[in-house]
Amino acid sequence: MMNIVTEIETWRVIRGQFGQRTVGLVHTMGNLHAGHMSLCQRSKQENDLTVAAIFINPTQFNQASDFEKYPRTLEQDRLLLESHGVDYLLLFGADKLYPDHFQVQITETEISKVLEGEYRPGHFTGMLTIVLKFLNIVQPTRSYYGEKDFQQLLLIRKMAQALFLPVEIIGCPTVRADDEVALSSRNNRLTPEQREMARHFPRLLQSGLETSQIAEKLKALGFKVDYIADLWQRRLGAVWLDDVRLIDNIPNN
Ligand code: AMP
Repeated sequence: MMNIVTEIETWRVIRGQFGQRTVGLVHTMGNLHAGHMSLCQRSKQENDLTVAAIFINPTQFNQASDFEKYPRTLEQDRLLLESHGVDYLLLFGADKLYPDHFQVQITETEISKVLEGEYRPGHFTGMLTIVLKFLNIVQPTRSYYGEKDFQQLLLIRKMAQALFLPVEIIGCPTVRADDEVALSSRNNRLTPEQREMARHFPRLLQSGLETSQIAEKLKALGFKVDYIADLWQRRLGAVWLDDVRLIDNIPNN
């Protein structure tokens, strides 16, 4: 049985009873898929207890419409987590997580300025702030993040080091569909034609062409391109199909 905890104070009491048992955390915004589940599976392999959290964090959305349209599928998510043997599901409200009304913020000043940070101002400050809150509340031994959001993973690692957080930050490989498109909750908002078109994005990232050539080819296919760039030994990109934004990255050898 998976236990659902909706109050932070209740969780603190439960956490206090774990003793020496190791705890793995997977925090997500819900609409769960095999990518999220790979994080849960890794956590289950490496820890005595696995805790999942679902919270659609309003402070990391730089567009109100993106927040409003974000898919909310709580019952489906609950069943998926339970069937994967997750021990606890945390569902805390925004009013409980932001008693300060977001007046206290965590900002990184270098990595967070480029790529995603340039195109989504404020996104990483909202993300780092909520991640630190969950790390402090849950007090996991290890916390799991997808390489799909590579810049996010770098920033969380950097925050954990800079603030001496007593947690191990674990990066997990990107889970892809059969046509190589990275699984993402936002894929659900693509029309069937757009979903078909989306496969060109990972295919071109993996093509070995110059970044500028990749951007040109994507534009010719009808994508809007925010960036295609080589950084941190990765090749990273962000594109739009109509009003749906997709990001991806691959190792750059
Ligand atoms: P999200 O709910 O989109 O905020 O994602 C929650 C966590 O799942 C983050 O650490 C993501 O990087 C990770 N994640 C999302 N999609 C994938 C994927 N396709 N493969 C691996 N991890 C993923």
